[in-house]
Amino acid sequence: VIHIRNIVRNFQLGSETVYVLKGIDLDIERGDYVAIMGPSGSGKSTLMNLLGCLDTPTSGTYILNNQDVSKLSDDQLAEIRNKEIGFVFQTFNLLPRTTALDNVALPMIYAGASKADREARATEVLTDVGLADRIHHKPNELSGGQRQRVAVGRALVNKPSIILADEPTGNLDSKTSLEILQLFDDIHTAGNTVIVVTHEEDVAARAARIIRLRDGMIESDVRN
Ligand code: ATP
Ligand code: MG
Repeated sequence: VIHIRNIVRNFQLGSETVYVLKGIDLDIERGDYVAIMGPSGSGKSTLMNLLGCLDTPTSGTYILNNQDVSKLSDDQLAEIRNKEIGFVFQTFNLLPRTTALDNVALPMIYAGASKADREARATEVLTDVGLADRIHHKPNELSGGQRQRVAVGRALVNKPSIILADEPTGNLDSKTSLEILQLFDDIHTAGNTVIVVTHEEDVAARAARIIRLRDGMIESDVRN
């Protein structure tokens, strides 16, 4: 599904150029389960944002599902993101005044689904992530682990081809982390492509493949 060739990402800070990704080549097949590791500042989130079509590279090509997405406009990227990508963040990024149901249903609004379809599908997804009894709760009425389950549900609702998670358990205690990681294992087992950034070796060990970044380059790429 993913073919990346010589991706470079620089950022311009005034007159200074910050070189973050320095030529990344990467292929990820459908259904793979990949962990991305590396020191703080090595470019993991920058790479994830590119993979998730939240950003475009300075140079190089990114082919996602046979389409070159390296040079698309923001609107075109948003459309692909909504259809193909489910993104889970360390900080959940839920709408605070909105129920679990409506948070999960939100990507379906952009996809043009009817209210009835949205509610039916969001209820189904929330049931899958173990929150059938919390669908009308708002984020501040949920625990951290439950909030992350809502975020995972939102990532899944449009049946994307790729699930990306950038340190999804970084704000959770170890028991709650394990529950969320089990959810990612299940998502992978169901046939999805899953890519997770983590600092923890035991989290990475659950994946089928571990890619280590160092200083904006791939240092190693091994199958588990
Ligand atoms: P962490 O493990 O701490 O999350 P990371 O590997 O995810 O680190 P990135 O967030 O990808 O690291 O950042 C890599 C480098 O790129 C950092 O030095 C950061 O300062 C720089 N960087 C990221 N985004 C920008 C930006 N928008 N403008 C300037 N520099 C940036
Ligand atoms: Mg990061």
